[in-house]
Amino acid sequence: MITEREYKKRRELLAKKFSNNSIGVIFSSQHVTRSHDTHHPFRQDSNFYYLSGFKEDNAALVFLKSKEEIKTVLFVQKKDKTLELWTGERLGTKEAKKRFLVDEIYLSDDFDKKFKEFLKDKKNIYYEFESKKSAAKKVLKMAKNFKIKHDIVPLVQKMRLIKSAAEIELIKESIEITAKAHHRAMKIDKKGKYEYQLQAEIEHEFKVNAAYSDAYTSIVACANNANTLHYIKNDKPLVKGELILIDAGCEHNYYASDITRTIPVNGKYSEPQKELYNLVLNTQLSIIGMIKPFVKRSHLQKSAEKLLTKGMIELGILKGDCKKLIKEQKHKKYYPHGIGHWMGIDVHDPAPYKDAKQREIALQKGMVLTIEPGLYIDKNDKSVPKKYRGIGIRIEDDILITKDGCENLSRSIAKTVEEIEALSFKF
Ligand code: MG
Ligand code: MG
Repeated sequence: MITEREYKKRRELLAKKFSNNSIGVIFSSQHVTRSHDTHHPFRQDSNFYYLSGFKEDNAALVFLKSKEEIKTVLFVQKKDKTLELWTGERLGTKEAKKRFLVDEIYLSDDFDKKFKEFLKDKKNIYYEFESKKSAAKKVLKMAKNFKIKHDIVPLVQKMRLIKSAAEIELIKESIEITAKAHHRAMKIDKKGKYEYQLQAEIEHEFKVNAAYSDAYTSIVACANNANTLHYIKNDKPLVKGELILIDAGCEHNYYASDITRTIPVNGKYSEPQKELYNLVLNTQLSIIGMIKPFVKRSHLQKSAEKLLTKGMIELGILKGDCKKLIKEQKHKKYYPHGIGHWMGIDVHDPAPYKDAKQREIALQKGMVLTIEPGLYIDKNDKSVPKKYRGIGIRIEDDILITKDGCENLSRSIAKTVEEIEALSFKF
């Protein structure tokens, strides 16, 4: 659990980065229409949540920084019995005052008036530059006379790069639920089932374990569907003898997990499937073995490309000299994506990969990233031995960088051929 003190500390850290005599503002998310008069479930803006832990809409956080002090102000929506009957309880100013360690709390209805007052003696303004939120657009107009404008978003995103102990605990809890979901997918009888039915089993496990939602739309891709990287239709039958690529992770208490396993429909890998699977697996294990502070992600990327290319030459998928093939980017046909990404409140945490001087940021203790090599052989690729065509494999784990190495946070999820076969339902 993130304490109110931790949220306060984050707000102070952010405001410390501001120039003197400045004002900063960040808004909550707004409701998103699904169709006509129905809405998607409300999900708080990740940066706003990171700074407040507050899950309501129509809220704003304001920072006032002078030479002498830093003040934080929270705007919350007012209590309204009728609206609360329809959409749920609101905290209101009285309860918000008890909970949040901010200096002042006002009603959102008074935002415009108050904000204009706050603006008066300030020189710098920090706000969300490219936000689609209507409140943020309004601030943009109010601040049009300001000479010095800064984007607040990258400052917060940078802070999100290093996870606190409490955040790491929450990520672990999220992964624990996702582990159950993947194991359920392995164990159930898949005879005559469809991809969406397996998806339902996975998401059932998320929900019954109190994970509010998936962290992204689950990919449940059987056979050649796995070669569509963002396959989310999940509407095809599970075919005996084929593999299923499952990329699914829950969001629990606003923290994501992101796990991929590629499992056999009938519980047993064929020989060619095993050959490809073990190439991806061994690559993934080697890459995880390289992870420690000061290593760069680009090094992991290049190493994965080398290992996969070497393996593909051995299996007869690629022909020629390894170095030359990589130079000509021939491997990209079968491994077209990155080795991994930051993960946290967002599944693709938008923390920076480069510093202010555009230099790559090396790994540091407290970062969390996914490691997800894959190989994708299209069913119509005549240049590849027939036995491998139509197979798509990805293996993805969530890795925490530690003081002198790393910890695979999802290591409890079955991953080797033997482990997966032992758990799987066979027919
Ligand atoms: Mg991922
Ligand atoms: Mg994934």
